[in-house]
Amino acid sequence: MQFTARRFDNGTPVEVETDRNRVVHVRPIAEPAGGDTLPWVAPGFVDVQVNGYAGQEFSSPDLTPDKVATIIRKHFEFGVTGICPTLTTQSFAVMQHGMRQIALACEQSADVAAAMVGIHQEGPYFAEEDGPRGAHPLEHVRAPDWDEFQRLQAAAGGRIKILTMSVHFANAPEFIARVTASGVVVAVGHTGATGEQIRAAVDAGAQLSTHLGNGAHRMLRRHPNYIWDQLAEDRLVASLIVDGHHLPPEVVKSMVRAKTPSRVILVSDVSGWAGMPPGRYASMGGEIDILADGRLCIAGQDQLLAGASAPIGVSVANVMRFAGVDLATAVDMAAMGPARLIGARCGGLRPGDPADFVLFRLAGEALNVVATMAQGEWRFGMQ
Ligand SMILES: [Zn+2]
Repeated sequence: MQFTARRFDNGTPVEVETDRNRVVHVRPIAEPAGGDTLPWVAPGFVDVQVNGYAGQEFSSPDLTPDKVATIIRKHFEFGVTGICPTLTTQSFAVMQHGMRQIALACEQSADVAAAMVGIHQEGPYFAEEDGPRGAHPLEHVRAPDWDEFQRLQAAAGGRIKILTMSVHFANAPEFIARVTASGVVVAVGHTGATGEQIRAAVDAGAQLSTHLGNGAHRMLRRHPNYIWDQLAEDRLVASLIVDGHHLPPEVVKSMVRAKTPSRVILVSDVSGWAGMPPGRYASMGGEIDILADGRLCIAGQDQLLAGASAPIGVSVANVMRFAGVDLATAVDMAAMGPARLIGARCGGLRPGDPADFVLFRLAGEALNVVATMAQGEWRFGMQ
């Protein structure tokens, strides 16, 4: 395969040649005559928090391997070449079912297996209190249970790569140490934990703050609080949802400056209801409203977000404007950064790098994906 585009990191027009799933050459070419017609090329996005799409949640008793494959392939349209299906708080039976169906989808389709870089288990080990719990159903929230986690990991065929949990539990440090030792990234999230508890969690191995600034109390003591505590903790990478709804631009800018760009990753946290028209829907976590502006909220509570609807490319474009970072930095937050965190494959522009790319144009405030190559094949556009 061969294509021409403009490098995301230095703006040079290049011809990229790939063979099977690897990059062979990246050669500079002359500036195209008659105006700039080249799209940007960057490593495909690695979105480590995706809950489903178009009416199908991963956390659902009716999930099948075909539905998993459909959601994952749909994300090629968003420039995503690495994805973590995210299973949220449910009964053990529903979560185990989800793990099994994702594992089966990987066994059945090579392209799905290659794009599915890990499962993100978000819950059920969360705080019961409203606010931190977010849209996770109270009846299924519970304390960390190593045996249960092991059984879920077995159902997933060892594919769980991130576990988001609250760290306020008395046994959290011991549990986190065991999960971390098993090769899974522990993320702090949906928590009302104290600074001491957060420090203990990080000492035990926690590496990530999940969607920092969301899954929090609506009213919070000004300081200290768990947002400052996580911002100041340099051993924690923070994932941010920069869709324009979950965090105000000023908060995004402040968080990026506090964490520094190398400790920020972007996630879409896209809901299973993303891609559906406005209306009220019955999700596994209770009823949700999709508002006319695209926000997904807990039914009747417009201030309580129940997930996101914008793909990760929207966060890439927004973080450039909100935090004043350049394109190379924004791409790092959406591709290389998340891949580094979980040890996943990531595209690149050196010979031998994986041929996983997103081609896009920047138009005003939007990032428009024009083509996606995953594992050396065009999966969207360019066919
Ligand atoms: Zn969440």
